[in-house]
Amino acid sequence: MENRKVVIIGAGIGGLSAGYWLSQRGYDVEIFEALDRPGGRMATIEHKGDKVDVGAQFFHSNYRYAFDLIDAMNLRSRLVEIKGKVKFAFSDGATGVFIPHSFFIQGLGLAKNLKLYRFMLKHIILAHRPPMYRIEEANPEFDDMEALEAFEAPKDLRLRDVISSITLASNMSEPEWMSLYHFIALLRIDMFTHYYSMVGGISMLAEELAKHLSIRYETPVRQLVMDKGRVVGVQLDKDGSVKRAGHVIVAAAARSVGRLLPDELAQQREFFNSITQAPLPMPVFFLDRPVSRDLWAYFNEPGLKRTFSFVEDHLVKCPAMIPSGKGVVSAWSCYPHTLDLVDRPDEEIIKQALSDIEPILPGVSSWVDEARVFWHKEAGMGHYPPGSYRKVLDFKQKARELRGVSFVSDILGGCFMEAAMVSAAEAVRRVCGWGGTAY
Ligand SMILES: Cc1cc2nc3c(=O)[nH]c(=O)nc-3n(C[C@H](O)[C@H](O)[C@H](O)COP(=O)(O)OP(=O)(O)OC[C@H]3O[C@@H](n4cnc5c(N)ncnc54)[C@H](O)[C@@H]3O)c2cc1C
Repeated sequence: MENRKVVIIGAGIGGLSAGYWLSQRGYDVEIFEALDRPGGRMATIEHKGDKVDVGAQFFHSNYRYAFDLIDAMNLRSRLVEIKGKVKFAFSDGATGVFIPHSFFIQGLGLAKNLKLYRFMLKHIILAHRPPMYRIEEANPEFDDMEALEAFEAPKDLRLRDVISSITLASNMSEPEWMSLYHFIALLRIDMFTHYYSMVGGISMLAEELAKHLSIRYETPVRQLVMDKGRVVGVQLDKDGSVKRAGHVIVAAAARSVGRLLPDELAQQREFFNSITQAPLPMPVFFLDRPVSRDLWAYFNEPGLKRTFSFVEDHLVKCPAMIPSGKGVVSAWSCYPHTLDLVDRPDEEIIKQALSDIEPILPGVSSWVDEARVFWHKEAGMGHYPPGSYRKVLDFKQKARELRGVSFVSDILGGCFMEAAMVSAAEAVRRVCGWGGTAY
């Protein structure tokens, strides 16, 4: 590329990692970010010295680009493995507990645990395993099916509850909004990796990367600028000025990208607009006491389809982040229930969250020292209803033909930080031929 100026839209982990790799290779990188901070959906809040991740929660042990950058930023010593247990609620009133890496869900019963093992043996261990954190293949049979369709027998009831809890926790969606193909990909990650928190907050990775880059905060981009069928720059929202570049990397969440694309890119606009994604409020409750010594996640009974489906106790998740030693509980709302919250004031969201989590933590409402709502105003998690992988593949194929522009998006690889980075490495490859180091 003759013109070595690269403009990146968005200082989330996708834009930051693309920017870092390119600037290391001598490119003149400028990042425009709408917010006043880096990290996008990686965010941390603080209350009296206690720190809580209110966006991305942990790194899976099989991330490669993320760990490369964690090392480059000297953050490895801050990683702490999450060791707490997870509590499930079943539709028949019983409860179950999952101990990480025990591969046994107590309360589910031997027969159902065996059925889950058989499923993993058939679809993960003995099956063809597609690449991780990038969507390269679609198996129409499973891509067109809902996750729960594989567990339809009436006696599978408790297993269906566990499957639902996995879809809620791993991709923040009800199981009807997840294809079986995506469920298998998630199960492979959930069951076979270790989970790592970062003392100080996951967003530290973004903050450290940002220090190496030229970023203009509170400077949203209005749209891409094209000339003779090629993207040649971006127009800024504030003053309408145009910043020209040899290459533009669009690294905003899918929900925002549609607004940036001119009519010449109508096909790509249609793809991003079709992604199921909603803004996400995250209520956090700082409590006056610890709740448990070893449970870090609790589920509501999935069949009740409450607005808030599960909670995390951040004290158990990563004690080193909560010096007060008191419970800090976040309440998680999943798609499509998230849609009901979009226009509601914080006080109502707090009330709704407390009423929804009271059955799993009886008495919690009277232990609250302070309640806060953190908003992911732009977008929360993207989802993968049946047919999604095919759609992503079609998009990727056509996007390769575009000139002057690359799209970095976690939606192209399963909605993880690592997926955003894999996609960023592909954009860097388009700009300078770098092959990436990790995959
Ligand atoms: C609640 C929650 C929990 C999660 N938990 C995990 C987890 O445990 N592990 C994991 O791996 N992943 C998790 N994820 C997913 C992970 O956070 C994302 O996959 C990843 O952070 C996406 O990074 P990104 O750079 O693609 O997008 P983003 O982080 O969304 O960054 C995009 C940036 O673009 C900016 N922007 C948008 N429009 C414009 C514009 N017009 N002009 C300029 N800037 C613009 C935005 O302000 C934003 O900063 C979670 C996500 C959520 C919401």
